[in-house]
Amino acid sequence: MSARVLVVDDMPANVRLLQARLEAEYYEVLVAHNGADALRLARTEQPDIVLLDVMMPELDGYEVTRQLKSDPETRHIPVILVTALDGRDDRLSGLEAGADDFLNKPVDEVMLFARLKALVRLKLMFDELRQREVSGRKAGVFDPAQLQRQIEAVGNVLVIDDNERQGMRMLRQLGRTHRCAFETDPQKAQKIASGRVDLLVLNLTAKSFDPLRFVAHLRSTEATRQTPVLGVYSAEGRDILLKALELGVNDALPRPVDAQELIARAHTQIRRKRYADYLRNSLDRSLELSVTDPLTGLNNRRYMDMQFINLLPRHLKAGEPLSLLMLDIDYFKRVNDSYGHDAGDEVLKEFSRRLTQSVRAVDMPCRLGGEEFVVLMPGADSEDARHIAERVRLQVASAAFNLSTGHALNITVSVGVSTLSGTGDSAEGLLKRADEAVYEAKQGGRNRVILHAA
Ligand code: GH3
Ligand code: MG
Ligand code: MG
Repeated sequence: MSARVLVVDDMPANVRLLQARLEAEYYEVLVAHNGADALRLARTEQPDIVLLDVMMPELDGYEVTRQLKSDPETRHIPVILVTALDGRDDRLSGLEAGADDFLNKPVDEVMLFARLKALVRLKLMFDELRQREVSGRKAGVFDPAQLQRQIEAVGNVLVIDDNERQGMRMLRQLGRTHRCAFETDPQKAQKIASGRVDLLVLNLTAKSFDPLRFVAHLRSTEATRQTPVLGVYSAEGRDILLKALELGVNDALPRPVDAQELIARAHTQIRRKRYADYLRNSLDRSLELSVTDPLTGLNNRRYMDMQFINLLPRHLKAGEPLSLLMLDIDYFKRVNDSYGHDAGDEVLKEFSRRLTQSVRAVDMPCRLGGEEFVVLMPGADSEDARHIAERVRLQVASAAFNLSTGHALNITVSVGVSTLSGTGDSAEGLLKRADEAVYEAKQGGRNRVILHAA
């Protein structure tokens, strides 16, 4: 997995060294020698990741990070700060500025690529989600205020550690801002993690179970594939850390655990998870909207077309029956003309409610437009379909429609039924025959069901 990396350092020798190492691994490298250039390049070139020196004259690494993270054009780009000192304060300042990760100088090559890969993987996922966010915005399902609320909400954190003292300490520290639970048993932890958990904090050097196996299992299980994992490692556990990052641990911090660093890193992971969840949900929502009729909540014509594509070949091949009802409300124009368009809408909604109630759970009622509806009925032969159609007709005709204006209207519906007939049949054929049957029902005096004699 390659990527474009922006390397920022005021010392040309440092830049050359990093550039050579990255290019040897087939990364594409962009270079900046000061903070201002870095900001400009990040905006115009949109790299996949920024490797940023902390100590630079004028704009230092913290300030550049802050500016990158506050600009909507660049805030999604992960930033790795390269610090000369292995100082706690440096890391905290970096985390506060919004940095995603840290490396110490001299840069440990293996660690560099492990961190890079983990962040690039994350970035790719977010790129895809951001792409979808654009379509979500178009569909009107994206709500920035709601997003903000969701991102800042209190997180559910599960600490998994066989060292009870260390685990309880982390629980207390994170518990000041989040809802936390603590578990020593990996099986139980996996079970809890399948529920609503925003972050797992895992001791990567646990002795009573294999933490790497645990991570591998999390990542291969659908329910926990996306749940962020924050690892805790010890100085001698470097190899484990590398393997953990490769397996999909999102971030890690060294022991002894610094409370503030733990809280800051946990916060970053939870926010990211919430953002991803939000984008995923709004995508689902916009897909749902695209096949839903807004007035009645029934499926729309697009949905019906898609179902035909799925159902027809299967039913034809298996010789399974499939029927279709076409329904057209009688004299609907009169409702609009006498009581107004809003009354007409109310009738359409109440009609949809009764229709949905009268058909089977496997049937698919759709509103084609106006006062025309279709019900797709997998598995129903013509007699089943006629029976259900009659039930719908009665449900509509037997009780008046009570409007919010106080009017009670008697509504009736004409229904045409068609049934799939042999291999030469098509969606168009079914619809056309049902339409002809509706016409016949109208001609015959309305409020009736006609079976097309195919
Ligand atoms: P028929 O018994 O022959 O079916 O007569 P009809 O009046 O039901 O049929 P026609 O197709 O002449 O009229 C349908 C009316 O439905 C015309 C249109 O103004 C109205 N209509 C279409 N869509 C909507 C809608 O979304 N809301 C409302 N209130 N009316 C609608
Ligand atoms: Mg009508
Ligand atoms: Mg009509």
